[in-house]
Amino acid sequence: MLVMTMPSWVPGQEAKPAPMPLLLVQAFVNTWDADHGSDLLQHPVAARNWLTDAGLWSADRAPDPAELDLACRVREGIRAMLVANGSGPQPTPGDLQALQAVSQACRPALQVGPGGQVSLGAGSARRLEAGLLLLLLAIRDAQRDGTWQRLKACGNPACRWAFYDRSHSRAGAWCDMATCGNRIKNRRLRQRQR
Ligand SMILES: [Zn+2]
Repeated sequence: MLVMTMPSWVPGQEAKPAPMPLLLVQAFVNTWDADHGSDLLQHPVAARNWLTDAGLWSADRAPDPAELDLACRVREGIRAMLVANGSGPQPTPGDLQALQAVSQACRPALQVGPGGQVSLGAGSARRLEAGLLLLLLAIRDAQRDGTWQRLKACGNPACRWAFYDRSHSRAGAWCDMATCGNRIKNRRLRQRQR
């Protein structure tokens, strides 16, 4: 089996990684790990380390509480979109508020590279919004090339880990069948037996 070497900013053991650059969105969502009760964006120093490592932060200071709050709200907004990708309910206007705030806070910058490659970047802004804008651009690209629908939040409400569904049927619902899939199925079975 081919073992892919994951970038250092991919949290935990990623069994179902998305292709780049969607992997960055997946990793950002998975900075919150329900299983271990850990949150890489909770403390300024840890958040700075992760965001810098992932290329979303370039300031030589740690994010302040308001910035961390924004990052977490963007993360949970994206997670709500991934729940919908996994055949859950559509995100509410409230879920999308932080993403819309980011989209309005800074404008993407168009660049033409040496080979004539045209790309969209976040410009030279050093604010956190610029980094978060890179996530929005990755989402936009994925929505256009069709990979977006495969990035889903686990169907177990107590988990919600972001996973990339490579199945032919595109009907994958669990981050891991052995843990979350069977857990939910057994629970449903017990409820029916009662
Ligand atoms: Zn799960």
